[in-house]
Amino acid sequence: MDSLNEIWSCVLSKIAESGEFSEPTYNLWFRDLELVKLTNDFALINTKTQLKKDIVSSRYLSTLEKYLAEVIGFNVAINLDIFDDRPDYEKVNIVERPAFRLDDEVSDERIQGEVGDGGEIYMTYNPQYTFNNFVVGNTNKFAHAACRAIAENADHIYNPLFIYGDSGLGKTHLLYAITNEILLRRENTNVVYVRGEDFANELIRSLSKKIPMQYFRDRYRKADVLLVDDIQFIAGKPSTQEEFFHTFNALHEDKKQIILASDRPPKDIPNLEERLRTRFEWGLSVDVQPPDYELRLAILKNKAQSLNITIPDSILIFLADNLKGNIRQLEGAIKRLRAASMLNGTRLDQDSVKSCLQDLFSNAVPTGITVDEIFEMVGKKYAVPVEEIKGRKREKKISNARHVTIYIMRTITNMSLTEIGAYFGMHHTSVMSAYSKIYEDIKTDPALEFEINAMIRELTGK
Ligand code: ADP
Ligand code: MG
Repeated sequence: MDSLNEIWSCVLSKIAESGEFSEPTYNLWFRDLELVKLTNDFALINTKTQLKKDIVSSRYLSTLEKYLAEVIGFNVAINLDIFDDRPDYEKVNIVERPAFRLDDEVSDERIQGEVGDGGEIYMTYNPQYTFNNFVVGNTNKFAHAACRAIAENADHIYNPLFIYGDSGLGKTHLLYAITNEILLRRENTNVVYVRGEDFANELIRSLSKKIPMQYFRDRYRKADVLLVDDIQFIAGKPSTQEEFFHTFNALHEDKKQIILASDRPPKDIPNLEERLRTRFEWGLSVDVQPPDYELRLAILKNKAQSLNITIPDSILIFLADNLKGNIRQLEGAIKRLRAASMLNGTRLDQDSVKSCLQDLFSNAVPTGITVDEIFEMVGKKYAVPVEEIKGRKREKKISNARHVTIYIMRTITNMSLTEIGAYFGMHHTSVMSAYSKIYEDIKTDPALEFEINAMIRELTGK
């Protein structure tokens, strides 16, 4: 452990002494980063906060890569994550999947200079999300109870368990909580968590022999518990659905637990094969609904407490009254207030809170806008078929439409970078760089700004 610390302090002093950054900049973004893990081909760095993670990943990743390589003598892919300091985190090892090279997919991003030549690491296990920090209310109590039951009992009462609901309402949190709980209770259980789009991407790489098929199959068919997040992304992909069908059957016959999460119930997933739909409905389906007032307030209190920030009750009530979107948004609001009060010592009163969170209030997530509508709107505007926007072609016209779509998604929905990326098969850092590109372009191109704002107005009806 000491040697990790030594390596890291070496890297940090190199950065500090490089002269590339002012002292305040260095203190703000680098000083308390932490090297958590280092292997032959990747390094895991704890950024402690989401804000830092976002900034470091969009601006300073290559700096970290460069200086780390200088110290250790070879290049590794850097993965940023946020771990809090709770001792729980020490209890379980971080399990990561092998760093498959994303050669073909990455090339698109390389052009934008974001991802470098790294492979990609997926965390199987994310110690941040547990049942302990999942706040239960009327709108999520059934989903919570079903997940707990599965985590606590090895005999499979519901198989599969299917959790559905809009983005930002806690589905992924619940899946991770199940993973954590099972690993703590039954250490030797082979728990496999995968996102639908990663399953699809890995399969493609296996089919094209970039990774052995057997490896792929073993990984999923030898699971004791398989959790597939955002399963809707396998729909419309024939070979992926075929493979998943066999995986599902093998596990189900073996009485292994399957847990699926999706943004909508099986019957509403477009282009999902019938035989999968019926299987998804074999067990129990539970939904998570947008939080009611009580749950919003409870979550705001809970997040403020866990982030160690004191927010007057009147402000919390004000926020609970006004932020009616999803839970990710509530969490984002608290984190932003924390950053504001840390960075410029802002006092938290109604006015400062309003101005700090202005966009959340004015752009309060327009309800009823679907991702499909955004794709269609942009596709029509730029005369690019939706399939091409989602695809990988780099022709200027197409990639511009793609970037604008990403910009609009990020502006008017609550989707995370990762979720947005899933629609394009893109890594979250590339989503960020597409977003930043348009964000910067708009500053110098009023026509573009007008064009995009007109689309946003039409979509949101404002
Ligand atoms: P989804 O997968 O449904 O889009 P997530 O699980 O990613 O949503 O949740 C978004 C954010 O909100 C996460 O940071 C998560 O920890 C938080 N969150 C969601 N529901 C709860 C809850 N009931 N209690 C505490 N935090 C929650
Ligand atoms: Mg999710």
